[in-house]
Amino acid sequence: MRAKLVAGNWKMNGSLASNQALLKAVLPPLAALGRARYAVCAPFPHLVTVAQLVRGTNVALGAQDLCQFDDGAYTGGVSAAMLADCGCRYVIVGHSERRSVFGETDDLVAQKFAVAIKHRLAPILCVGETLAERESGATEAVVARQLDAVIRRCGAAALGQGVLAYEPVWAIGTGKAATPQQAQAVHAFIRGRIATADHRLADELLILYGGSVKASNAAQLFAMADVDGGLIGGASLVADEFVAICRAAQGAQETVRA
Ligand code: PEP
Repeated sequence: MRAKLVAGNWKMNGSLASNQALLKAVLPPLAALGRARYAVCAPFPHLVTVAQLVRGTNVALGAQDLCQFDDGAYTGGVSAAMLADCGCRYVIVGHSERRSVFGETDDLVAQKFAVAIKHRLAPILCVGETLAERESGATEAVVARQLDAVIRRCGAAALGQGVLAYEPVWAIGTGKAATPQQAQAVHAFIRGRIATADHRLADELLILYGGSVKASNAAQLFAMADVDGGLIGGASLVADEFVAICRAAQGAQETVRA
């Protein structure tokens, strides 16, 4: 059975002090929750501090991006080894903001995925279509293209070392989440596509949903058969919201077990 995962993506928000305060508000209620898993993806300069705060808790540390190269003369780059050294377990790759604002291509995302797993980080690979792509009926083709770039470079089995996140671009930061049915349809498509390469891998792979998840819609989204939790942006910056979303994941987990 897949354990639900909820990962907060703090993006480029907060200060050392405010993010510490956020974490201090979130850690005790999450400690009381059960088998679902939790993570926060912090800005680079905050990683070491956050690592100290989450050590020994049920919240793992993630980063939001990494450099595709191992090491060397790449000014401004942050390597997978550095992230692992800071205590990261996860790293987001291919977030739509990286793709659209920073021009990351499918192939660059695949390179980042490859270097992450080489250093035993679990990449959270984001895929998802724009509104125009959805409206033109291209959702599955876009998601398949983004996924296939990683499979081509790393092999399908490599997906098992990470986590997928379906994040429709039109739902990110807009307040307009996909309906549970829309999310389920794309998650099932992704799982089915991976199953053609490896059934067992497809069964075990976590596929998170991301895009305007809030306390008010999390339970319905997480109740879907192929939605294994969430990647949470804005709502992960509000302690009560994030805790409520994590509770919804825990509730969905218990329903699956019953
Ligand atoms: C995200 O950026 O990954 C995200 C899902 O953002 P939001 O929850 O704010 O839509």
